[in-house]
Amino acid sequence: MFLREINQPVTKLMGIGQIAARNLARLGITGVSGLLCHYPRDWEDRSRSVPLAAWHSGRICTEVQVLAQDWFGFGRMKTLKVHVEDDSARACLVCFNRPFLQKQLVPGSRFRLFGNFYYKYGEIQSTAFEVEPVSSGAGSGMSGSILPVYPLTAGLNQGMLRKFMQQALKQFAPSLSNEIPENIIARDSLLKKPEALRAIHFPSSFDELEKAKLTLIYEELFYLQIMVGCRALERRKSPAGTRSRKEITTNGGFSQGVKTPLQLRLLERLPFSLTSGQEAAVAELNRDMEGPFPMARLLQGDVGSGKTLVSFLAILKTVEGGGQAALMAPTELLARQHAENTARLLEPLGLRIAFLTGNIKTAGRTQLLKALKAGDIDIVAGTHALFSRDVEYSNLSLVVVDEQHRFGVLQRQAIMAKGDFPDLLMMSATPIPRSLALTVFGDLDVTVIKDMPPGRKPVKTHLAKNSNAEKVYDYVRRELAAGRQAYFVYPLIESGDDLTTVSSQVKDAVSMADTLARDVFPGHSLALIHSKVEDDKKQQIMDSFRRGEVKILAATSVVEVGVDVPNATCMIIEHAERFGLAALHQLRGRVGRGDAQSYCFLIYSDKLTGDGKTRLKVMLENSDGFVISEEDLKLRGPGQIAGIEQSGYLKLGIADPVRDAGELSRAREDAFGILERDPLLERGEHQCIREVLEHAPPFGELGM
Ligand code: ADP
Ligand code: MG
Repeated sequence: MFLREINQPVTKLMGIGQIAARNLARLGITGVSGLLCHYPRDWEDRSRSVPLAAWHSGRICTEVQVLAQDWFGFGRMKTLKVHVEDDSARACLVCFNRPFLQKQLVPGSRFRLFGNFYYKYGEIQSTAFEVEPVSSGAGSGMSGSILPVYPLTAGLNQGMLRKFMQQALKQFAPSLSNEIPENIIARDSLLKKPEALRAIHFPSSFDELEKAKLTLIYEELFYLQIMVGCRALERRKSPAGTRSRKEITTNGGFSQGVKTPLQLRLLERLPFSLTSGQEAAVAELNRDMEGPFPMARLLQGDVGSGKTLVSFLAILKTVEGGGQAALMAPTELLARQHAENTARLLEPLGLRIAFLTGNIKTAGRTQLLKALKAGDIDIVAGTHALFSRDVEYSNLSLVVVDEQHRFGVLQRQAIMAKGDFPDLLMMSATPIPRSLALTVFGDLDVTVIKDMPPGRKPVKTHLAKNSNAEKVYDYVRRELAAGRQAYFVYPLIESGDDLTTVSSQVKDAVSMADTLARDVFPGHSLALIHSKVEDDKKQQIMDSFRRGEVKILAATSVVEVGVDVPNATCMIIEHAERFGLAALHQLRGRVGRGDAQSYCFLIYSDKLTGDGKTRLKVMLENSDGFVISEEDLKLRGPGQIAGIEQSGYLKLGIADPVRDAGELSRAREDAFGILERDPLLERGEHQCIREVLEHAPPFGELGM
């Protein structure tokens, strides 16, 4: 049996009743297999003594004698204090909410003591400690060993989880089958599944723990890569569509990336020519779309490098070949902008265009869906609503996904199922580190646009303290007088939105819109935009900003992605230290889109923390998105790349593609090698892989 085949609820385990089950559910654990996959976040070494005198070195683990008890505080706040000593020092245990310890920690008795200590009021103290009778050592199996420390939630403590885990291991682990092929286990001296599971929770030594980690990390990455590999195979096996590939025959099979008639017509109409990066990208896309397999390409290029235009050229080729194209953006604002641009640039070439979001009203929607299904629409731009269940296409042949990092390898299936192996073009300004490129985007080919359209002046970035905000406003006033426009961005919509700080000190978009309009820039039209503004209203506001009727846009980070208004030359971000690097880079990318010199002012609170300071410095010193995202990675540490992990599209249990880069490439090599030799996984030694995929696929909830 495989781990994920254990279909037992946690209540099947001794000692887990309804209450514990409810608490576990809050950790996302419902079944026994989920419980066993709830890996420790840390391991505590209770085999090694750390005496009280070494309190500053971290966690104490020592044997103490109780000296005395006393109490402080009154009534319900009355708190027990217990004085103890070991061979090295004396300490005081502050028993908040644990009055019951009075009966346990009687003067004269001896205990084993674990916990974090600090120095306060002239004594070594702890409020977070555990005690255990000395004699219980071997019997409970808890002392003198390495103990797991789990992520917890209310109602659960370490002791309970350890007990549940031991129970689950005893009942279920011994009969579990290996998921890693035997020959790899032997080759790398990995642990077998039952041992790996036991040792990740209750290792007998740190050596064994390392082996268990290595085994489970490899296993996870191996299956990720097997799934990535299967997707790539599937694509290669899939029939070359009839659509744009008609081109091959009409051009005698020799078009090789050469531009199509419609592409040429669009380019003729533009006031500029393609950058060499765009040229190369278009040639590559054209070749892909003529090739025997559906395209799956990631187009990377910094903010403002002109990816949209490249995607329009791909769309033209698709439509010329008789197919439909869908252009998906992460926000309604950006989707609308794309719809408007397609209307402006592609409609004159005879293409039929539609716009679809979740907010399109029923009557219009029904009609639109009918037209889409009948093939009366060539291009539809929209949000993820483009792929809702009721949306049907007559011949969806190209899917363009703009600035949507959430569509990893396992999520694309739903989208692709809307067509018959459509071509896929993903676009991103967020440079993706190699490790991630190999995992979530592991089946995509990659094109990078390295250059910018000519004539762009680098945005000048300035830092200013909040107390100097007036000076920044003065500067902006001059730009406004010269006919330019400005964005003011705030971290909050309204005061009170932020529960973590005293929010009255934080400027918010709503009140600042008032202040800016009334006191700072009277005489200049201003509009307010944020996620709670109704969509129709949002559109009106953006339209008037684009037309230049509105000069100042007070906003939240809704304007972060994609918005393109070349006459806007000032980006003012207040409380800039509260934004992540990726967001700051995107926001700054909203200006510097025309010929005029643009400015980005990062206004920071007078109280600035270390990380915030570093981020602002990075922004001041760098303009290259790749460098910024590398700095971002360094600051956040592995595992939290550009918000990708938090967005939850790749929920790995124990592996971290950045930290475990070595295992990742090994797993990839192994997985791809196996699929190459045995694509259907028919050989005896690969049987376990096939069975895992059939009966207990990992990343199940992401398979869509
Ligand atoms: P991004 O790569 O960030 O999506 P956009 O596609 O929004 O960039 O392009 C930014 C701006 O540059 C747009 O106003 C677009 O019209 C313009 N642009 C695109 N390509 C060129 C080019 N080759 N020369 C000049 N301007 C260009
Ligand atoms: Mg863009």
